[in-house]
Formats: sequence, structure tokens, C-alpha cells
Amino acid sequence: MGFIQDALSMFKKKDLLFLESYKETENVYTFLFEKDKTLSWKTGQYGLFTIIHKKIKNNTRPFSVASAPTENVVRITTTISAEPSDFKKALLELKPGMRIRIAGPVGSFSVTDNIPSLLIAGGIGITPFRAILKQIEAEGKGAVQPITLLYLDSNNSYIFKDELNEIANNHSVHVTYLGSRDDLHEEIDKFTSKYKNEGKYFIAGPKSMVESISSYLQKDNISKRNIKKDSFFGY
Ligand SMILES: Cc1cc2nc3c(=O)[nH]c(=O)nc-3n(C[C@H](O)[C@H](O)[C@H](O)COP(=O)(O)OP(=O)(O)OC[C@H]3O[C@@H](n4cnc5c(N)ncnc54)[C@H](O)[C@@H]3O)c2cc1C
Repeated sequence: MGFIQDALSMFKKKDLLFLESYKETENVYTFLFEKDKTLSWKTGQYGLFTIIHKKIKNNTRPFSVASAPTENVVRITTTISAEPSDFKKALLELKPGMRIRIAGPVGSFSVTDNIPSLLIAGGIGITPFRAILKQIEAEGKGAVQPITLLYLDSNNSYIFKDELNEIANNHSVHVTYLGSRDDLHEEIDKFTSKYKNEGKYFIAGPKSMVESISSYLQKDNISKRNIKKDSFFGY
């Protein structure tokens, strides 16, 4: 069912109006687009974004939608290095009034708040979790079961930190910022020893990081079916 729905969604392409962009940190940028009235998505999903204002090779990239539907705007947040791809260069050239094409959004990286959940973000992998936590905040009731976010960034450069802290202050969400794998493993161990396979585990970030954390959890006897992965291919 999910697969068929996703396949159908991919045919629904829309051109979204670019609103603005800004720097989050030295090499991370956010881009905001107007939410088309007919566009809907679930938190944790990603869209396929295509550059249409100029011709470039490899003009499409998947990006998690980093905003909750209740925010009424489509947000993508991405790293842009000193020597970016043509796609990222084209993103930086966007001016208000220009458009980008979106197919989808699709995917099933969704958190249900009635099961204790451990969310593990590696660097830019925070994007789907921002949307998920913003939605919980907007619903205003807090999570029924505890949600713990472990946010790993080896440069200690945490985007969305103020927003995440605000959500953590007001809801049953706990956020821990971590700078090393050892510290991350220690925090994972605390959660797994308490909730074991009663909990659900969500990992998002560069593919290699997602795979190694998934193996770590499985070595700790966490069943594969309790681990959901959002692998950012391309890093
Ligand atoms: C489901 C899904 C969701 C995704 N969501 C997001 C998202 O929300 N935000 C996001 O930024 N990306 C996301 N990605 C990855 C995104 O689609 C691109 O692949 C990624 O941003 C790289 O973009 P680029 O190819 O334009 O290269 P650039 O970012 O311009 O990089 C140029 C080159 O440098 C390499 N490179 C750049 N940074 C690194 C790094 N940190 N480590 C190793 N190599 C590097 C790249 O491999 C590339 O070859 C997602 C991918 C998937 C599959």
C-alpha cells in the first residue's frame, strides 16, 4: 500500500515558488518555498527536488522536508561546501519568484508518539526530525511516551538548536547534543537497557553513519523490525 502510494505520489509534480534562503551555519543553508495548496506530506517524508530555472546535468536531488505541514511552508536544509555541485550552485542562485519542482513527498519515516522512541541524527540527518518534532509541538499535547533525540555532530555545530531546545522545554521530548561516537553509544546504551525491544529506533544521516548505528543496535539485540533508517545517499 505504502509503496503504491509512493509510486503514485512521485508522478504528482508541482512547481513551488521560492521565498527565501538563509545560512544556518558556515556551510548549511535553509531554502523556503511556498506551500502549494494541493501539496500535502507527512512528517519524516522526502521529496525529489528538480532545478528548473536553468539547464544543468543531474538536476534532481532527494531532500527531507524539514518543515511540519502545520508550518505552511516547504523547507529544505542542506550542506553547501566550498566546491558545491552544479545542483547546489543553482540552489544558491534562486531569487524570490523563481520556482523549483517537487515530486512526492514520499517515504514512511514517521514516529508514532505512543511508543518510546529514540531518534538518532547524524549531522544534516536532523532535517526529518525537525519536521517530526515541530509537528508534535504544533499538536500541543506532547508525546504520550518519551521521545529522546540524540543529535551527533563531530564539529559540535548543531543546526535548529534553539528550536529543539524550545520543543524540549515544553513537551515530553528530551534532546542530547553529542560530539563523539563513544558518547553517542553511551546514550544509546542507556535507552536500550531501559526500553529494549519495547522501543522504536529511528536513524537519519549519511548512509555510512546510519548503517554503523544500525549494526550497533542489532549487536545490542535490538530487532531489525524496531529500527527505521533514513539514509542520505550522496554523502
Ligand atoms: C531520502 C533522502 C533524504 C535526504 N535529505 C537530505 C537533506 O535533508 N539535506 C541534505 O543536505 N541532504 C539530503 N540528502 C542527500 C542529498 O540528496 C544529496 O545527495 C547531498 O546533499 C549531496 O548533494 P550534492 O550531490 O549536490 O553534492 P554537494 O553537497 O555539493 O557535495 C559535492 C561533493 O562532495 C561530497 N560531499 C559533500 N559533503 C560531504 C560530506 N559531509 N561527507 C562526504 N562527502 C561529502 C559529495 O559526495 C559530493 O560528491 C538526502 C538523501 C536521501 C536519499
